Order: sequence, then C-alpha cells, then structure tokens
Amino acid sequence: MPPALRHSRQTQFSIAAWITFLYVISHSSSHQLFEGLKAYPGDHKRLRLFRPMLNINADRMCGSDEKNYVFAFDESELLECIRRLVEIDQDWVSNADLYIRPTFISTEPSLGVKKPAHALLYVIMCLLGPYFDNKTGVLALWADPPKYTRAWKGGTGDCKMGGNYGCSLSAQYEAVDYGCQQVLWLHGEDHQITEAGTMNIFLHWINEHGDEELATPPQDDIILPGVTRQKFEVTERYLTMSQLFSALKQQRVKEMFGSGTACMIRPTGRIIRER
Ligand SMILES: *Cc1c(COP(=O)(O)O)cnc(C)c1O
Repeated sequence: MPPALRHSRQTQFSIAAWITFLYVISHSSSHQLFEGLKAYPGDHKRLRLFRPMLNINADRMCGSDEKNYVFAFDESELLECIRRLVEIDQDWVSNADLYIRPTFISTEPSLGVKKPAHALLYVIMCLLGPYFDNKTGVLALWADPPKYTRAWKGGTGDCKMGGNYGCSLSAQYEAVDYGCQQVLWLHGEDHQITEAGTMNIFLHWINEHGDEELATPPQDDIILPGVTRQKFEVTERYLTMSQLFSALKQQRVKEMFGSGTACMIRPTGRIIRER
C-alpha cells in the first residue's frame, strides 16, 4: 500500500500515513462516476434492496450509446455482487438503512483525458445517518445565480459524474456560510430553478393559470434524472425565480421540496439570495 497524506479538518495534513481502507491506482482522475442506492431493513431485519435496477442500468450510469461514459457491464452481474455484499454485511446492520455506492473510475496508465481502456467498478457502503445537520429537516437554500453554475446544456449534469460535484463545492461552502444547507441551482438569464444541491426540486403550487400542479423542471442535460423523482406524477415545465416570487406574494405556493435517494424528501423553508 502506498504512503499518502491523510487530511482531516481537525489535524490538517498529517505526515505520511498508511491508507488502509482502499488502495486504488488511478493514473487518470479524469473519469469518475458514481451511483447511490439503498437497502432498507424489512421483516426480521432482513435488508432489501430498493429498486436497484433503476440505478445500475446503462442509461442511468451514462453508459448508453449516447453518452457512453462507462464501459458496458453486465447489469445483472453487478446486481448479484451488490446483493452478495449486502448479504455479507447484513448481520451488523441493525435496523438501519444502508447506503450503497457503486463507483466507476478509470485506471488508465496515462495522464491524458481520453476514453479509458482500463477501469474499475467497485461498491462501497455505509450506514445512513441524518443527511443534513439541521434538526428540523426543513432546508434553507442559498441562491446566487450569476456566480455559480452546476450544469449546462451539452454538459454532464444529467450524470453522477465527479466533475459536476467538484465544480459545485465553492457554492456549497458559501451556502453554509450563509446558514443554508444546500444551493438552489439556477440556470440562464431568466434564473430557471433547476435543482437543490444534489436533489431534484418540486414546486407544489397554484400555477399562473389558477391550476393546482406539482411541477418540476423537464429532464435535459442540466437535470439529474432522479429515481426518487419517478415516484411523483408531475408536470414537467420550466420554473423561474420571478414566477416563484410572484406566486409567493400571491400566496399560491403550497410547498417546495427536494428529493433524492439519500435524503428522501426535504421541504424547503427558506431561500436566501444575493440582491
Ligand atoms: C443523485 C442526485 C439527485 C437525486 O437522484 P435520486 O436518484 O433520486 O437519488 C438529484 N440531483 C443530483 C444532482 C444528484 O446527484
């Protein structure tokens, strides 16, 4: 195993320490993609995978012909590996939810940015504690449209690709500085509402025509096609900040919430934004 510098917020960088958790040679870090699914305890505390094939299929992992970011892999083999892994760890998971993260990285012995010929698909898991640090679970979102972009047309915002999360970090740090849990990602001149942190976003409101609707932005390169999102019957439409603010003024907003596998459904209590 290689010596490595290990960092923690308490100790800053320590001198070389042995990383024992996982040893992976990755020459090119240009390629990283992950998934997130869960197993829930059911009868007799037996863990049950929750709709795993919605997560580990080629479309969702951006391995379909169109995007082609990961190698073709046998989905049922991966499912069997995950099933076996959960079975092995079953006994020490007492009545908690298990979060499962399949991860794909290139291990290409070259530093160039190109389609890798070598890659690793591995799975790690952890017990799921509270996802956000606030007690109520009601989220405050930070919106600063001109400054930060999470995803763009023609980009990889519809995949769980590492780079999307790297470029969201400064905004997330700033959100925390403003006492918020997540960033409200806005897009374009008209400040379209796209996602809340790593959640799809929904607005339950009386729309501009007086109709009650549960609205969420349509799926394009900017929106991650969430599995949790599929649970809802929704109107797919663009929503802008000015539409939201006039609806708030006219008391047409019933609820706004985010959805994702790890945090499930989270209501939004506040949106803070730079004037
Ligand atoms: C994972 C994720 C979601 C939610 O997807 P689920 O499949 O519901 O977990 C939404 N937006 C982003 C940016 C994500 O990474």
